[in-house]
Amino acid sequence: MNQDEIIQLFRDSHALLTGHFKLTSGRHSDVYYEKFTLLKQPSICTQLCEQMASLLKNSGVETVVGPTTGGIILAYDTARYLGVESIYAEPGENGRIFKRGFSLEKGQKVAIVDDVLTTGRSVQEVIDLVTSYDADIIKIILMLDRSNGTVTFDYPMEALATVAAQSWAPDECPLCAKGEPITQRGSRVFSK
Ligand SMILES: [Zn+2]
Repeated sequence: MNQDEIIQLFRDSHALLTGHFKLTSGRHSDVYYEKFTLLKQPSICTQLCEQMASLLKNSGVETVVGPTTGGIILAYDTARYLGVESIYAEPGENGRIFKRGFSLEKGQKVAIVDDVLTTGRSVQEVIDLVTSYDADIIKIILMLDRSNGTVTFDYPMEALATVAAQSWAPDECPLCAKGEPITQRGSRVFSK
C-alpha cells in the first residue's frame, strides 16, 4: 500500500473528515482526523497493522510496544502478524510506565507503534520508558505522521503516511472569512 492508498483508507473509514473544525488548540482547520473512527473497524485497522508488520519483517523484533489507547490496538495486531508479543505503556505520574507485570530485558529488541504523530510527546515517553530497561529500540512506526516530518527521534522512524496539518488562527481562517459555520463533531460531516 502506498501513501495515497493509506489516506484513502482514512477517507473510506470516515476517519478523515473535511469541513470547518475548531481544534483543541483553538486553531481552525479544514480537515479533522477522528482516529478511533478507523481504529474501531478491525477489517480496516488490520490492513494498516499488516503494513506496519511488513516494515518490521526480518528485524528480529521481539516485542511491540504501544502507548495507550490507540497504540494498544495497533501494537497488538502488528505483533500478531509478526508472531511476537505486544505490551503497552500507560500514563504514570512522571511519563509512561508499564503495569500488569509488563517488563523488558536488557537488549530486548523492541518496536514502538503508535497511531497519529502530532507533537511526538507520547512516543518520546515510550522511548524514555523502553530505554530505562536498556532494551533496544529497532524502529518506531506511526500510522499517520501529521507533523509533516518535523518531529524526529533518536531512533529510525517510519510512518505509513505523512501529511501536513494545515491550521489557522481564527482571525486568519479562510473558512471563517467565507462565513462557513463551524462543523459540529458528531453531527453531519462530509468526507471527501
Ligand atoms: Zn475558521
